[in-house]
Amino acid sequence: MSKVAQSERIHIAFIGKRNVGKSSLVNKFIGQDLVIVSETPGTTTDPVKKAMELLPFGPVVLIDTAGIDDEGELGEKRIDKTIKVISESDFAILVLDPQQNLTGYEIQLIERLKNLELPFLAVINKSELGINYELIEELKSYGINYYTVSCFTDEGIYELKEKVIRLLPTEEDLTLVGDLIKQHDVIVLVVPIDLGAPKGRLIMPQVQAIRESLDEDAIVVVAKDKELRAALSKLSDKPKLVVTDSQAIMRVTADVPDDIPLTTFSILMARYKGDLPEYVRGLKRIEELQNGDKVLIAEACSHHAQEDDIGKVKIPRWLRLHTKKNLDIDIINGHDFPSNLADYRLIVHCGGCMLTRKAMQMRIKQAKIIGIPIVNYGVAISYMHGAIPRALLPFSEAITEWDKIKK
Ligand code: SF4
Repeated sequence: MSKVAQSERIHIAFIGKRNVGKSSLVNKFIGQDLVIVSETPGTTTDPVKKAMELLPFGPVVLIDTAGIDDEGELGEKRIDKTIKVISESDFAILVLDPQQNLTGYEIQLIERLKNLELPFLAVINKSELGINYELIEELKSYGINYYTVSCFTDEGIYELKEKVIRLLPTEEDLTLVGDLIKQHDVIVLVVPIDLGAPKGRLIMPQVQAIRESLDEDAIVVVAKDKELRAALSKLSDKPKLVVTDSQAIMRVTADVPDDIPLTTFSILMARYKGDLPEYVRGLKRIEELQNGDKVLIAEACSHHAQEDDIGKVKIPRWLRLHTKKNLDIDIINGHDFPSNLADYRLIVHCGGCMLTRKAMQMRIKQAKIIGIPIVNYGVAISYMHGAIPRALLPFSEAITEWDKIKK
């Protein structure tokens, strides 16, 4: 199996009521009995994820979820988890039982999927039990694509897989640096090896930038920030682009001549996974913050915090220094985005490397819906260190937004 990071894989959620055969269908996709299947309703409690190659599409993660009609207090918690899985997925399969028509649970799910603009397909499982024409008419009235299968006889399973593969969203056009360079261009990547760097390896955006550059037949030079001047002096041609870790931006800006395009890995990630123009708009709010304003610093994973941690220590410090205001800063880690977003005047989000693009987009959407400006670490750091607009210059859509907020 290819070593594609989970967050880079397309996520497919299998959702529906209890005992409609979600786990059986997941097993049919995988081709093995990974997920426990039982006639007892509610066997699947927490979401179960399985990474696999769905050929010829490529790497995916299948997520089996708890029944949306789960009962009791614990059931409500499971339903919350299922809703969260849906909002972080790229595609959903709504599994139905031909013995029942649509219930309020499923109708709510359908509305939620439509609100999220999440592509999905209804699958009527257990076709060996007969056809429910009323259910089919209901699905048609909602304009929903449906498919009939049997996990018991395997009828329609192969065709369903083919159908899902055709419907899965592809993100072939999205690249970190692939569209910024071409064959024989030189790209310089600045990778500080400090206490915050993971031991013995590079982080995902650095690895991805190297791989994409090689795919474009470009020439990649990787240097620590301290060696950057020496690296540049040894090049006979100017590099097409210099990309640095955000935290080294001040030093790197001083070392890279103005006629060489410069940006940061965080800004590349903002463009790749987030919404760079939206983050640039979010910078305006930094200037509008007042004493007592609440700011949310959101990290999408709970990594071990360093002494001078970027999210917990440095960004709060830089924000207070830059604004000269007494800010009320909350810091959250992990996969849960708080439900009280409206309490905040600004959200400063990490790069979200552990999130799928869909999940990151959902967070941005949530902020936009309630009108809370959002910016990511890298854009905010470059701004507070005076490296904006320079670090945005390679991206016309970001510069357009910058010009608007500076008016
Ligand atoms: S960028 Fe966010 S998701 Fe990635 S390691 Fe940092 S805190 Fe975790």
